[in-house]
Amino acid sequence: MRISRIIKLIIIVAAATYLFQNPDKVTQGREWASEKVQQWAVLLDEKGDQYRSPEKTSTANNDTAVQEPNTHDATHLDGAVWAKKTLKVYFDVPADSMPEYSAAWRRAFDSWNAVDVLTLVAVADKSKADIVLTTEDRSDTQQAGVAQTQFLVNPLTGKRVMTHVEAKLNVHYLNYYSATRKANTAEHELGHALGLDHTADRESVMQTQGSEYGIQAVDINRLKALYQN
Ligand SMILES: [Zn+2]
Repeated sequence: MRISRIIKLIIIVAAATYLFQNPDKVTQGREWASEKVQQWAVLLDEKGDQYRSPEKTSTANNDTAVQEPNTHDATHLDGAVWAKKTLKVYFDVPADSMPEYSAAWRRAFDSWNAVDVLTLVAVADKSKADIVLTTEDRSDTQQAGVAQTQFLVNPLTGKRVMTHVEAKLNVHYLNYYSATRKANTAEHELGHALGLDHTADRESVMQTQGSEYGIQAVDINRLKALYQN
């Protein structure tokens, strides 16, 4: 009893001495601990499906317009997947003023739903959506579309869990595309939103330039592989 108390005391004194002599370790330790606590807090909240942490945001994709030289950035989903099989989707495109974009997203939604790996459900409340499908008009980027993905990293397993995606079609480039290529781009971005990274396969909706092909068998198989368990 007394010996264990003495041992504890020695450990505490030794630790205090060490930290006193290495003040930077105190800061590092504090930062490490607070980071872990934050990650766990986020993970715990995530189970309740309510919390979204902006500082955990990771932008996971940039797509280049096909007219431009290939400066496509690689995606960084790195195995991030949804923890659930039913996803709420909000269409944030005015169907009356932007019918082609509304139709492109609708086709992508229907096509991925038909694949029958994940179930996509349209919701009327944007704040409840897992995935928001929208547009942007940006000339300051070379991307024809983007899927901005938020995910959490489990500090123990390193596993990434997607929590929210905002997928955008850039009208600055896509206005010059056919309806088919608009829809292919929408299928590509929604593919990212479901967890698919790019592929070197040329005949794939997830090819890096992303507008020549719609969803192919290879894409369906990759999605199945991501969610089989
Ligand atoms: Zn892409």
